[in-house]
Amino acid sequence: MQTPNHQHFNLLELKPIRALVLWSGFPYIFQALLLLLFIALIALSWNDFAPQSVNDKLYAKTHLVNLTVWGIWWPLMVWLAVLFGRIWCTVCPLELVNNLSERLGRRIGIHQRKLGKWLVSGVFILIFYATIQMLIAGMHLHRVPAYTSIFLIFMIATAFITGLLFENRAYCRGFCAVGLLLKAYGRGGMVAVRPESSDVCHDCGEKWCIKHEYKHKLDARSCPTLLEPTTLDNNRDCLVCTQCIKACQPNNMQLQLRAPYSSQDGRESEASWPMLLFIMLLSGFVTLELCTESPVAKSIFLWPVDTLMSQISIAGIGGWLEGIWALIIFPLLLWSLLGGINMLMKGASSMTDAWRNMAFSIVIIIAAGHMSKGLAKFTSWGGFFPDALRDPSGRETVQAMTANPNLLPAPLLAFPTVTTIALGLVGIAIFYAVREARLAHVDTYKAQIPSIGLLAGLFSIIILSWF
Ligand code: SF4
Ligand code: SF4
Ligand code: SF4
Repeated sequence: MQTPNHQHFNLLELKPIRALVLWSGFPYIFQALLLLLFIALIALSWNDFAPQSVNDKLYAKTHLVNLTVWGIWWPLMVWLAVLFGRIWCTVCPLELVNNLSERLGRRIGIHQRKLGKWLVSGVFILIFYATIQMLIAGMHLHRVPAYTSIFLIFMIATAFITGLLFENRAYCRGFCAVGLLLKAYGRGGMVAVRPESSDVCHDCGEKWCIKHEYKHKLDARSCPTLLEPTTLDNNRDCLVCTQCIKACQPNNMQLQLRAPYSSQDGRESEASWPMLLFIMLLSGFVTLELCTESPVAKSIFLWPVDTLMSQISIAGIGGWLEGIWALIIFPLLLWSLLGGINMLMKGASSMTDAWRNMAFSIVIIIAAGHMSKGLAKFTSWGGFFPDALRDPSGRETVQAMTANPNLLPAPLLAFPTVTTIALGLVGIAIFYAVREARLAHVDTYKAQIPSIGLLAGLFSIIILSWF
């Protein structure tokens, strides 16, 4: 007999949530509405560049599309992933596009291939995410509405094409730009799909949740991500699409609300290579992002790039060099230090072992830094929203604000408040990072503590420089 579990609450016990999740229109209607929003954003930003003689960063804040995509949606996704796991995936419009094109491909007789192991491992996603970050650094992708529209079109087109050519939710499993981010940050999320009782699954003859004949149904499908819902014990690949909940006729699947980083989840003792490289890249990106909130921190962090630029003076490559420094060189230096300390403390016998062992605890500190930056960005961009709704192209607004800086909206929260919350997030992250290290490496976790402390200390110093 399975002992009753009091460490979570099954959200399906709430009648409105149960009715919503079991409704055949869920989550399709929400995905369709968000797809319409994506299309509207593309139309609004198509071929739109900053007017001459205005600051492109200010223009990005006044343009409804850039404000929505980079100032609200992107930070919100980070917060949602850390707090609630892959809950964004439930309503993601790109999954709908992929789902529909997969059905279309099957209907018109395309021989759809299985995704190769290397694609499932996240190699393409790593390259795609790194490319986006380089484009942000080098071409200011996030500041130019026309580029944002191309970015959105590219994502929808990739979701469509991969659906035509591959089976089994291929876009989500091997191509989505934020796939690794959601896997890395969503591991401890408080919302999770899990089976209630392994005994019920054991006695279940039909196994609707994995039944091949249910794979192509419109609703109440067997798991489209090819997971085994019966043994699900982590958030890594589950998109919380709720299909297995609908398919399970004994009602054994739950939508759980539980404490962060539930001790009941399974833990990987080491990160895969694509995941490790992704987390390393994130560490550099997040450090740069935190530094951009303070001129002093930014000038210190970018000192090597600025020094090099003063020597070579080639116009137009500063942003690209910043990208190479922040995404490749700085992470390598940082992780050599973190890994070296771990080896000195006898946590691992080689640098790569140290990196792979520490990745899932270190990423919690990185996530706290990312949330802090997201909060700072949202509070400084959010005040532009009413003007952006009134003037979606931002042209009048940016001209008026350039002529009269008194029109600039105040941040939604005072900076001392943002800083205090950010420091609190890093503090909480230290607790969970050490706990994760202990749960995954009970014998050697103490060797990770100095590295966790070092990165948390670095982030705290940068955040303190925001005052
Ligand atoms: S993996 Fe990516 S495309 Fe798939 S549902 Fe999640 S965010 Fe959307
Ligand atoms: S259909 Fe439900 S009860 Fe049957 S194996 Fe799947 S999760 Fe378990
Ligand atoms: S396990 Fe269930 S909720 Fe998770 S992806 Fe599979 S069908 Fe969707």
